[in-house]
Amino acid sequence: MTDTALPRVRAEIDLAALRANVRTLRAHAPGAAFMAVVKADGYGHGMVPCAKAALDAGAEWIGTATPEEALALRAAGVGGRLMCWLWTPGSPWREAVEADVDVSVSRVGALAEVVAAARAAGRTARVQLKADTGLGRNGCMPDDWPELVGEALRAEADGLVKVTGLWSHFACADEPGHPSIALQLRTFREMVGYAEQAGVRPEVRHIANSPATLTLPETHFDLVRPGIAMYGVSPSPEIGTPEDFGLRPVMTVAAALAHVKRAPAGHGVSYGHHYTTAGETTLGLVPAGYGDGIPRHASGAGPVLVDGKWRTAAGRIAMDQFVVDLGGDEPEVGTEAVLFGPGDRGEPTAEDWARAAGTIAYEIVTRIGARVPRVYV
Ligand code: PLP
Repeated sequence: MTDTALPRVRAEIDLAALRANVRTLRAHAPGAAFMAVVKADGYGHGMVPCAKAALDAGAEWIGTATPEEALALRAAGVGGRLMCWLWTPGSPWREAVEADVDVSVSRVGALAEVVAAARAAGRTARVQLKADTGLGRNGCMPDDWPELVGEALRAEADGLVKVTGLWSHFACADEPGHPSIALQLRTFREMVGYAEQAGVRPEVRHIANSPATLTLPETHFDLVRPGIAMYGVSPSPEIGTPEDFGLRPVMTVAAALAHVKRAPAGHGVSYGHHYTTAGETTLGLVPAGYGDGIPRHASGAGPVLVDGKWRTAAGRIAMDQFVVDLGGDEPEVGTEAVLFGPGDRGEPTAEDWARAAGTIAYEIVTRIGARVPRVYV
């Protein structure tokens, strides 16, 4: 490879855009603390650099799904408040308590594991109680809440636990006007009210993800917890585009054409021959595929910018490569093919790929695989 050659495929991560997005989101939620959600390797953008950039931009908290992610952040020198929320039996509670990670619990059995870990570590565990206000996923059901709150208060009285937060998560905040939003909010207020009357004194009460941060100020409470919007991607087309909210996409995925060749009319392209050239044409080989996280469901539809023109994945996207029909153009091997980016150079966006693949833009960025080098710019 010469100095000027592009890598096969790369994901450029614009950390200045991420920092600007954090500041923009904060302006949407004045008065609320900010938890930057960096689970799943920072939605594919790189967990550690994104966490550090978010802290630089003023985030007070970092949120992960798993305790292993939180511990990896600590190991990488990430300080500040850290919270994780997805536990399975045998998770490293003690290590998390020792690393000053706020741990979320949704059930009495999990609280008992944290209490045991706190005892073993000789420290007070910081615990956030999660309420199922209507998402129907993780979280404590309203009927079980008094028992969980009571057990948490008992552990607090013993000095083993400090209940730092009361929190929940929305099911449909990305669907403006969905009736579940108001219902969840009411249930959240009731469950928080019960806990506070019982004697819980949380530092933070929180329920707002990206769409709620952007569009539902009444949900901001003490802290907002956006993920996808921090990466400059809209939570859903119904909510609006990133530009509508002053957000800039952080990830650009681009490849270098690996082969450019003329093909006659009637030439079948890629597995299954789902595309056949209509006339004599040029085929360009994009050296990226579902092994890199490019969705196979976008076969025949995924857009790519080559030499200023949108081209479409012709035929099936394979594990490592797919083909675009370049018509009369004959770009050189090595020419850049931009799969998606902010869109302001005319390239497609993650939202365009989501539409092509029948999925959400969250999945497009998050699934960009480990084989794709992240280049921080
Ligand atoms: N909070 C929790 C518990 C989550 O699981 C997530 C992500 O799904 C978020 C916040 C951030 O959500 P979003 O990316 O929609 O902002």
